[in-house]
Amino acid sequence: ACLARIEELNPTLNVFLSVDAEAALEAARGIDARRAAGEQLGPLAGIPVGVKDNFCTTDHPTTCGSRMLDGWIPPYDATVVARLRDAGLVIVGKTNMDEFAMGSSTETSFFGPTRNPWDPDRIPGGSGGGSAAAVASFMVPLAVGSDTGGSIRQPGSVTGTVGVKPTYGGVSRYGLVAMASSLDQPGPCARTALDAALLQQVIGGYDGHDSASINRPVADLAAAATAQDLAGLRVGVVTELGGEGYEPDVLARFTEAVDLLRAAGAEVVEVSCPAFRYALPAYYLIQPAELSSNLARFDGMRYGLRAGDDGVRSAEEVMNLTRDEGFGKEAKRRIIIGTYALSAGYYDAYYGSAQKVRSLIQADFDRAFESCDVLVSPTTPTVAFRIGERTADPMAMYMADLCTIPSNMAGNASASFPAGLSSDGLPVGLQVMAPPMEDARLYRVGGVVE
Ligand code: GLN
Repeated sequence: ACLARIEELNPTLNVFLSVDAEAALEAARGIDARRAAGEQLGPLAGIPVGVKDNFCTTDHPTTCGSRMLDGWIPPYDATVVARLRDAGLVIVGKTNMDEFAMGSSTETSFFGPTRNPWDPDRIPGGSGGGSAAAVASFMVPLAVGSDTGGSIRQPGSVTGTVGVKPTYGGVSRYGLVAMASSLDQPGPCARTALDAALLQQVIGGYDGHDSASINRPVADLAAAATAQDLAGLRVGVVTELGGEGYEPDVLARFTEAVDLLRAAGAEVVEVSCPAFRYALPAYYLIQPAELSSNLARFDGMRYGLRAGDDGVRSAEEVMNLTRDEGFGKEAKRRIIIGTYALSAGYYDAYYGSAQKVRSLIQADFDRAFESCDVLVSPTTPTVAFRIGERTADPMAMYMADLCTIPSNMAGNASASFPAGLSSDGLPVGLQVMAPPMEDARLYRVGGVVE
């Protein structure tokens, strides 16, 4: 059924970059056979799953939505992918994304934009628009994404699905092509809080291959998702994440969601996090700085594309040509910004200052979590915008992550849950933020609001 759905919708929505129907069917038959033989399998065994195209897979190309890696097949599986396979999930294919996960609309992909299943003239969010649209259009019940500044949550919000950014270090980054290493975090995309919880339980937990991995057991997230009780939960509404610049329908759905939490027993208070105002500008120094360093490995020598290799040009010329042809406009913009911010004499002024702002954001969270168990806000200021509407204006594009970036800066747990539709029928999301390692609280709230 999933493969038929993909065949029907993928030509218009451009969600999957690669699908291996035969391999998926064979994997599914293998699970059936093991079950028939009496083997006890986990709760997600046999469930089809989509994987964002920046996770290494030995049986599918891994392009990161870039010409630079067009056709590249990695020699190993990412930990997330290996855990999906071990738990018996069936990997159907790889999903489209903004180039190297830079973007909020999946329009910077070398392979063309993904369209939002709710309205194909609109964006599905980004950078993980493919994974969110795959779940929203019923091509697969589950998908995995990566969230550096909102790339799981914002696509979740604008496609009416659940997207979770686990605590930094909660899900291994090993085999996830690095973008901004201090912010990148893999996580689940699903249609319900329970589905996402079950998936996080499969992909999460300690991995010695990731130096940031937290060596603690994964909590019972599925139990939290089904608890249906918020008695005594202290919920903080963040003053700075609302008001001017937010669409009225987004604010209306947000207020209704908060009322729902109150009705389920939560105590709601307002909290101020003044440093959140500086999260976006600080992110756009830290992220390009780390990205420019990580993308330096794509030099035409080791992976993917090699341009101008005619046996006459120097290595430097080949590198220059490869980068010129291999990277798109947004990648080049950020490599230039990041390289500038890290250059000798500027480090303290830019990267150093941004790191100080990051500490202030962390301090705001710490203070807020002294009086609140979770914080809430809209996930993104607007509903899905139209394809092409923001491509000429990077600042307008960056604004889509205004509410999601603070959690990446602090490394805490954060999620988006469906919170109803705007008056023109487009999904709105509720963002829930919890302290590090308290991911279960996200699911407890999500199970009630969705
Ligand atoms: N939209 C943000 C950016 O372009 C976030 C990307 C992400 O989370 N991968 O950097």
